[in-house]
Amino acid sequence: MPIVNRVANLHREIKQWRQDFHANPELRYDVHRTAAVVAEKLKSFGCDEVVAGIGRTGVVGVIRGRKAGKKAIGLRADMDALPIEEETGLPYQSTVPGKMHACGHDGHTAMLLGAAKYLAETRNFAGSAVVIFQPAEEGGAGALAMVKDGLITRFGIEEVYGMHNYPGLPLGAFAIRPGSMMAAADHIEIDLQGKGAHAARPHLGIDTILVGAQIITQLQSIVARNVDPLESGVVSICMFQAGQTDNVIPQHAKLRGTARSLKPEIGELLRQRIGEVVEGTARLYGASAKITYTNGYPVVVNQPRATAFAADVAREIVGKDKVDTDIAPVMGAEDFAFMLQERPGAFIFVGNGDSAGLHHPAYDFNDEAIPIGTSYWVRLAETALAGS
Ligand SMILES: [Zn+2]
Ligand SMILES: [Zn+2]
Repeated sequence: MPIVNRVANLHREIKQWRQDFHANPELRYDVHRTAAVVAEKLKSFGCDEVVAGIGRTGVVGVIRGRKAGKKAIGLRADMDALPIEEETGLPYQSTVPGKMHACGHDGHTAMLLGAAKYLAETRNFAGSAVVIFQPAEEGGAGALAMVKDGLITRFGIEEVYGMHNYPGLPLGAFAIRPGSMMAAADHIEIDLQGKGAHAARPHLGIDTILVGAQIITQLQSIVARNVDPLESGVVSICMFQAGQTDNVIPQHAKLRGTARSLKPEIGELLRQRIGEVVEGTARLYGASAKITYTNGYPVVVNQPRATAFAADVAREIVGKDKVDTDIAPVMGAEDFAFMLQERPGAFIFVGNGDSAGLHHPAYDFNDEAIPIGTSYWVRLAETALAGS
């Protein structure tokens, strides 16, 4: 079975919702308009329960099947946009300066709403489909906030599934892999303290720019010389702030960056070596360093059985040869990982075709992916909740 017929009929409507979300992007937890639209639509579809305010601005809808059954599965979408100035020139371009749906969460939200509408209309399953709309995927750990607010236990969720669009993956294709699929992303913050001096008398100071530059260079030896070449790791310093003018050696410097890995033991190795390299290098030059190392999103780990199941559903929609079940892991991060730490499940990529990349000012979610992603959701729910 390719695209579900009823879903194909809903395409135009879902596309209108998507473009409306696109024109009205909101950041992090401040997704008040989006969450209100989602809750209002879920109610109008006749969901059995609609609960707003989970994890601050998250929304959950519960749809019970008409066959007897107790099982409940979670289907998750994200609602937040990014602080980017849009450059698409589209008729439904962002109406909010400096904010843009550049990660396709507008599409994710619209597709899951479409699935909810279909599932509430047909209810051809046993148990409950729980549709989850989370805030703050982009850096705010909205998934964790919803979990901490009782999402999993309150709705009795036994398995949980997520989906993200993927630029460069052809329209009509899916990609997934069992095990680690997306990286853990930790945050590095380094405050360097040296000794300010006149630029003409460097011997009287401790130059935090030189020390910072050495630290940045030394940090690159960690992935090159401490991580097993067959494993994956990233250490990137992305911010270096020091100095105000051309004739003063600055007393302070601040560096920030990210450390990424696909395995907890590699993550721990990065943390340990970053600490040693930063402190050792600072000491070598007589400076001192304060390191703040914060664990960010964990690794997205797809449970093998749920992954095989999700791949089967995807094949049913787009055909056997369009589902890659061995995509290489990516070093991007996703807070759906927090939900996968609570319950077995799987995260899948759906092709966005040849579009600009995620987080690019010219990116746009591909509306032609709507029937594909929505069909995936509805068949996933109907199959997982087929009953005995
Ligand atoms: Zn993103
Ligand atoms: Zn995203």
